[in-house]
Amino acid sequence: MKYDLHIHTQYCGHAEGMTIEKILRQADKVGLDVICITDHIFSPAEFHVPAKIRQEVSRYENRCKVLVGAEIDVSGPDTDGRLVSEVPERLDLS
Ligand SMILES: [Zn+2]
Repeated sequence: MKYDLHIHTQYCGHAEGMTIEKILRQADKVGLDVICITDHIFSPAEFHVPAKIRQEVSRYENRCKVLVGAEIDVSGPDTDGRLVSEVPERLDLS
């Protein structure tokens, strides 16, 4: 199985030009079976991003399976491994 489980979109602020359409086309072009889009979630203000991505993905017909996750950093100032944000609902975490 070919996969890439760490992909950012233009919505994360550091992947300019990485539209959902481009990502899906490229994934199919290189023959990936599964991708996971994992934009950063730093605060509850960004909890809407995974749903927005999932809705946008639904507009396209693509061969590869698309999971929508999130990249959530561990808090640096804290030393107990806590995350910088809660985990938004409806992510593909399995
Ligand atoms: Zn990343």
